[in-house]
Amino acid sequence: MGYYLYDANGYVGDLASNHGLWLMSKYVRKVSDEPQAKQFFEEGCAPVTKKLIAGLKAINCPDKDIADTIDNLVNLLAKCDTVAIISDGTDVVSPELTIHRGTHEIGGSCVELCSNSGNTRLIIDLGLPLVNADKSPFDWGIHRKSTMSQLLSEKILPSVDGLYENDKPAITAVLLSHAHLDHYGLLQFVHSDIPLYMSMGTKSLAEVSNVFLNTSVKLDKVKTFEMWQPFEVGEFKITPYLMDHSAPDAAAFLIEADGQRIFYTGDFRGHGRKGILLERLTKDPPHHITYLIMEGSMLGRDEGLYPDENSVEQALHDLILSHKGLSYIFTSSQNLDRLVSIYRAARHSGRTLVIDLYTAFVLDKLSIISPVIPQFDWKGVRVLYSYYHAQKLADLDKPLLYKYKSAKIELEEIRDTPDDKVLLAKDSRYFRGIITKLKDSSKAIAIFSMWHGYLEKSDLEQFLESNGIPITEIHTSGHAYVSQLQMLVNALKPRWVIPIHTFYPEKYSEMFANVIQLNDGETINLC
Ligand SMILES: [Zn+2]
Repeated sequence: MGYYLYDANGYVGDLASNHGLWLMSKYVRKVSDEPQAKQFFEEGCAPVTKKLIAGLKAINCPDKDIADTIDNLVNLLAKCDTVAIISDGTDVVSPELTIHRGTHEIGGSCVELCSNSGNTRLIIDLGLPLVNADKSPFDWGIHRKSTMSQLLSEKILPSVDGLYENDKPAITAVLLSHAHLDHYGLLQFVHSDIPLYMSMGTKSLAEVSNVFLNTSVKLDKVKTFEMWQPFEVGEFKITPYLMDHSAPDAAAFLIEADGQRIFYTGDFRGHGRKGILLERLTKDPPHHITYLIMEGSMLGRDEGLYPDENSVEQALHDLILSHKGLSYIFTSSQNLDRLVSIYRAARHSGRTLVIDLYTAFVLDKLSIISPVIPQFDWKGVRVLYSYYHAQKLADLDKPLLYKYKSAKIELEEIRDTPDDKVLLAKDSRYFRGIITKLKDSSKAIAIFSMWHGYLEKSDLEQFLESNGIPITEIHTSGHAYVSQLQMLVNALKPRWVIPIHTFYPEKYSEMFANVIQLNDGETINLC
């Protein structure tokens, strides 16, 4: 059993083994002439004073092990605030952690932190699974119409008492890291009395998804937070950190709970347009992290052909420029980094970027987080209206249809002048219809700019081939490479690392010391 040093804010560092502490204590009490040092070991706690530190420093022990233990104590005392406490952790108030889902899979993340008093229960993320129990792809379409009790019994909704609409509310708040469905896709089932915390950008995307993806997030319950601005939820203090990810305005969280400092990474990377954020975080990290709950999507995955978003933009540009005809680019309209890359690649190749109404609405909504996000009325951007999208927007707010009209483009115009167009496409019936209609007007190419796995799941490649359209993949991952995971752990120096959002949690202990590998639904005391 080990002993740790705590201060008034919680854990400071590992102190010594049981035996090591006994040897140090015995020696200090025997030789030290500084009463404060003796008293510290008699009582196991003391105010941190210069005299205490000087008294310990003055000890010259010939036994190297004892001398090292004293040195370690002196270093830890220098990091303490006003008080130092020696403890094995058993008498320290500690919160409980349960990862309801995500310990052995990517997607469906749901984490619960409960304070020692039981008065604060925080849920972090509540996502749709990406895989079934047998790891086959999860299809929400099959379950969409299920009742809440069916979803609970099929374990699609994680079993969390007091969280859902059919229960008496007992959760203090739900905190969202970012707007990817595998992190927030089950939010619609949360009891309407429970507040939902998210960033402005995440809220904007949730609004868009409510209109186009039927996510039914209760927007009136949303409270937005500012990055790096701490706020309180019950007994917990939460500081969001802006992270580089393929979803805009994604957050990691430092959660200070019962003296523990827990860092939840959410999804992140260091090679997107905001890669600098990971660099900054590792250069100036939050200190004394006791538990790091870290995603590991890239473990066991190929890193892909393009190392970063800049090389994606360059490759898009080169391919578009080298081709004399219409270019279709398949991507997610909510991957802001990619939309910016596509916009820039199109502009720098002298092409007009044609987006759909849904994408125009996404960009418009995100203008709230930055003025440099390309918009429908920017030079070189046109908007293609589909009946389905127009209907959805009209149901929400009819004037929006008129707002985007100034940039509207008709299919005939694309058919007449296809060669200077880059068309943002989706693998949908609507776009397959457009591709078929434009088939004879231009020698088109297609660029697949999403995770390769999506291409494998669909017959898009065959469809394009049958229309004489060659497809090229240009993509970089939204998730941290192994080297970036190591960079973060080296910087944060957490006492424990807990794997989440990975298919290979067992690989963590090959890379890091002190890994706690949990199972879904297992509760541990964070002490
Ligand atoms: Zn994500």
